[in-house]
Amino acid sequence: MYDVVVVGGGPGGYVAAIRSSQLGKKVALIEKEHLGGTCTNKGCIPTKALLTATHLYTDIITKSKKFGIKVENISYELSGILKHMNKSIVMSRKGIEYLMKKNNIDVFNGTGIIIDKNHIKVNDKILESKNLILAHGSIPAVFPPFDKIDGIWTSDDVFTMKEIPESIVIIGGGVIGVEFATFFSALGKKVFLIELADHILPFEDEDVAKEIKKALIKKGVKIYEKTRVKNVIKDDFYTVVAESENSEIEISSEKILLAVGRKPYIPQDVKELGVEIEKGVVTDDSMKTNIDNVYAIGDIRAKIMLAHVAMFEGIVAAHNIAGESMKMDYSAVPSIIFSTPEVASTGLKEKDLDPEKIIIGKFPVSANGRARTMEEREGFAKIIADRKTKKVLGFTIISPSATDMIMEGVLAVKYGLTIDEISNLIHPHPTLTETILGAFEDTENLAIHI
Ligand code: FAD
Repeated sequence: MYDVVVVGGGPGGYVAAIRSSQLGKKVALIEKEHLGGTCTNKGCIPTKALLTATHLYTDIITKSKKFGIKVENISYELSGILKHMNKSIVMSRKGIEYLMKKNNIDVFNGTGIIIDKNHIKVNDKILESKNLILAHGSIPAVFPPFDKIDGIWTSDDVFTMKEIPESIVIIGGGVIGVEFATFFSALGKKVFLIELADHILPFEDEDVAKEIKKALIKKGVKIYEKTRVKNVIKDDFYTVVAESENSEIEISSEKILLAVGRKPYIPQDVKELGVEIEKGVVTDDSMKTNIDNVYAIGDIRAKIMLAHVAMFEGIVAAHNIAGESMKMDYSAVPSIIFSTPEVASTGLKEKDLDPEKIIIGKFPVSANGRARTMEEREGFAKIIADRKTKKVLGFTIISPSATDMIMEGVLAVKYGLTIDEISNLIHPHPTLTETILGAFEDTENLAIHI
């Protein structure tokens, strides 16, 4: 008899399994493909490996001469880039395998089929458990007319490409679409990015999207916003027919990548278990479903589909199973985009707030000394605070290393720090974090370096 059986070995599932074991529980984890789930095998890790390679390539092309470094005959080999990507995946996967052993977790490789909340079948075994964690994850969303057309890529397919297309239409200008547009354009390919909403990165503020749009256009990406794809015709090439407010466009390309989001993976056995399902499996903020001792975490909930959110939900579920009381707090979730430059944001957005009740501070990367030494000038930091209390409500940064620097904003939003509390911290010089300091100072017109 197990204390906990986890179905799904993605970031939600494997973290829940480890924390449950650390809290003294006897744990089994069932995974039908590879440990690490979407994130390690078809998501976070491979995209970041690809983007790290193209980032270096771009830096060599655009900066080496300026830095006095002589590099001749610069070129790339797709096979080498993919080798680096696959190595990153395998190393991450192996790391998780090691952690499973270290924490005495029984890992079953097979499809977990839930018989009832205490019995789960895997291969020819039936596991008995006091608690069940549903961590089945998500799959790419594909819908008509795209599901009827041969050879359209989802993000899953990009990682198995043998050749790099000379031209690609990316449908969907969200995080995944923008990251792949960054990748293909860095290799000199023709990229067309189509977004239905008013601007790319629709969850970010307009000024943030504009900055990234500018950077992508500079790299040759053609961006169509407020544009709906009506039809796709497949010949030797694909022809994408799309309409915007007052015109119809046709784009011809070698490949199409559909990046319009993901949907939770909810197989029949989960439906039959009787858990409440809306868009995804419904839980309270302790990660409990409507059925006692059944928890759900990560993308299967169809809420914030991010690896670090899935991991934290796994931790919360484990502590509640262990008899403690822990709740999720989504007020300061960092959202990150590995574009060039990177984007990271947390907390509330300007577009969702009453302008009368907030103050905003901004500071450009172009005025940051460290950025100058790196030949970087795109981006800015933006801080939003409550006009009365001066508490930080939201924070966005567009900069090299923004995805690492966001943690200062996360701390400020999560713990309700005030502008003064951050402005009074000594930021090291010369570092990119001074862009953040500048934005805080700017809320009171006290920025020194601009
Ligand atoms: P998953 O990672 O999807 O794992 C679920 C696992 O369950 C899978 O391995 C699946 O095989 C297994 N499974 C399903 N059903 C069964 C069953 N019946 N029996 C056994 N096993 C089963 N997030 C970030 O935070 N940062 C990023 O940079 C980032 N980049 C991304 C890039 C791309 C291209 C994509 C597609 C996603 C990216 N994400 C990123 C999102 C992130 O990958 C997901 O939010 C995260 O993987 C969700 O974790 P999960 O544990 O809920 O599910």
